[in-house]
Amino acid sequence: MRMSKLLMPTLREVPAEAEITSHKLMLRAGMIRKLAAGIYSYLPLGLRVEKKIEQIVREEMNRAGAQELLMAALLPAEAYQASGRWEVFGPSMFKLKDRNDRDFCLGPTHEELFTQTVIDNVRSYKEYPMTLYQIQTKYRDEGRPRFGVMRSREFVMKDAYSFDLTEEGLDASYKAMYDAYCAIFTRLGLDFTIVDADSGAMGGSGSQEFMVKSPVGEDGIAYCDACGWAANFEKAECIPTEVPSPEGDLPIEKIHTPNAHTIEELVEFMGAKPYNFVKTILYKADDKYIAAMVRGDREVNEVKLKNLVGCTDDLELAEPFAVRELTHAEVGFAGPVGLDIPVYVDKEVELMKNFIVGANETDMHYKNVNMGRDFTPAVIADIRIITDGDVCPKCGKPIKTAQGVEVGHIFKLGTKYSKALGLTAQTESGEVADVIMGCYGIGVTRCLAASIEQNNDENGIIWPVSIAPYHAVVVPVNSKNEEQVRLAEKIYNELLDAGIETLIDDRDERPGVKFKDCDLIGIPVRIVVGKKCGEGIVEYKERVWDKAEEKTVDGAVKDVIEFIKSNI
Ligand code: ATP
Ligand code: MG
Repeated sequence: MRMSKLLMPTLREVPAEAEITSHKLMLRAGMIRKLAAGIYSYLPLGLRVEKKIEQIVREEMNRAGAQELLMAALLPAEAYQASGRWEVFGPSMFKLKDRNDRDFCLGPTHEELFTQTVIDNVRSYKEYPMTLYQIQTKYRDEGRPRFGVMRSREFVMKDAYSFDLTEEGLDASYKAMYDAYCAIFTRLGLDFTIVDADSGAMGGSGSQEFMVKSPVGEDGIAYCDACGWAANFEKAECIPTEVPSPEGDLPIEKIHTPNAHTIEELVEFMGAKPYNFVKTILYKADDKYIAAMVRGDREVNEVKLKNLVGCTDDLELAEPFAVRELTHAEVGFAGPVGLDIPVYVDKEVELMKNFIVGANETDMHYKNVNMGRDFTPAVIADIRIITDGDVCPKCGKPIKTAQGVEVGHIFKLGTKYSKALGLTAQTESGEVADVIMGCYGIGVTRCLAASIEQNNDENGIIWPVSIAPYHAVVVPVNSKNEEQVRLAEKIYNELLDAGIETLIDDRDERPGVKFKDCDLIGIPVRIVVGKKCGEGIVEYKERVWDKAEEKTVDGAVKDVIEFIKSNI
């Protein structure tokens, strides 16, 4: 491709709308342009990378025995109404009506449609097991679209669904996808971690996420270098730890704590440690209220708590008016003593004695509170968020934590959708049973952003060869120098003939501009044809190198071909 003809509107300035590196670089490299919040157009360079990621995903899906098909994105409401997700998705679903006032949505994910496709088209149990997939544009009206294509409202996802007649069959289908995902993310050049993930209150028997560690990730992940255990914070099991408590069975005491609302203010006021307190937090769970208690230096894990409560909607903090009504106090003084709603207590609180809680009275706290004696919990369970300083639930060694970007998710669904929509099959022995499903997603466009987050420097993107928009670029330093241009064209054609996707920077620009653009768009290897071209000498530079090397023309061409072929 001739860069003089390439639609590549690079920017020198960092666009104000972009917060994170990958978003800034995708805009600066002329890969994408914004149309509205979370909605982007892909320009040629962006689209080439996106298509390469799709192709790697496709090859590995096919290798794993999955079959590609393509569903509509504009979908009638019925299947989602049957599964209940027409409501569950809430405002995240783009809903619309046709001219006859029938309800439609833009597909956010396709479990229902794949289930329906199998119901309508699979005739015999002999056709199972089966894994179907598509690579398709999805629509979600995200509450906070941000970070460019990392969390957008229109994005490309690969979604696959497996259909099995036995649990062992599901395990095998799941394992095949697990292996395919490892192959995909390795080929994409991503440094990834596989974590145990939450599979929700009722759905599924197992789930794992493929995470790219990055400070811009929106998921917390905990991992253990000693034994390899890793889990999403949402799922990570916490081992209770004991902290010093006042000794003996001390009598409960009410204390006046004016203007002390936060744990920090109370610590100061009462001369205790944060771990001598137990926080009581009131939540709204669907249409009921509950309380959750964790040690003063811990945080409530709302996903674990939601699963335990078994509510449909996400938990929400109780509204201030509800807190006032339930505790008869201003916000900030809730406690378990005399509280008339179910109290969910974190396991760790069981190890505590004579602790401090709110007294359900403005400006008042209780000290020397003991569970069992002073209040009765409804449930005691692990409801806190794991943190640095915790130990691995598998081997007991200290864990580490990091932020992660979820690039893929594999999930044993079980029979949730086959039950809801009526997908059954006769087994060999003649019984009729619900078909057992799994679902498997990859955020194709999110992978672009994740790759850039992991592969960049102050000059721009550093593409892995496997997904680079072009492999190599040939730069004549002076586009008006005929000798340079002639040699550059010769090298360009030789590389094209060798199957190397090559750019030639034939633009009438200053060399500095050309070099800056090559670095910004992240082309893995560059040949510069300059002053020494008369002697048959050119400069060869891989994008990751600081400095170029002088080589003969033939040597440089050979090295480019070798470098690309061995890294693709
Ligand atoms: P998240 O927790 O990040 O919102 P999710 O768990 O809702 O994602 P899934 O339903 O598991 O997402 O979708 C499969 C994959 O699609 C995710 O692993 C992610 O890579 C990608 N994905 C999901 N939402 C978005 C989005 N808004 N923009 C880009 N990619 C997305
Ligand atoms: Mg997910």
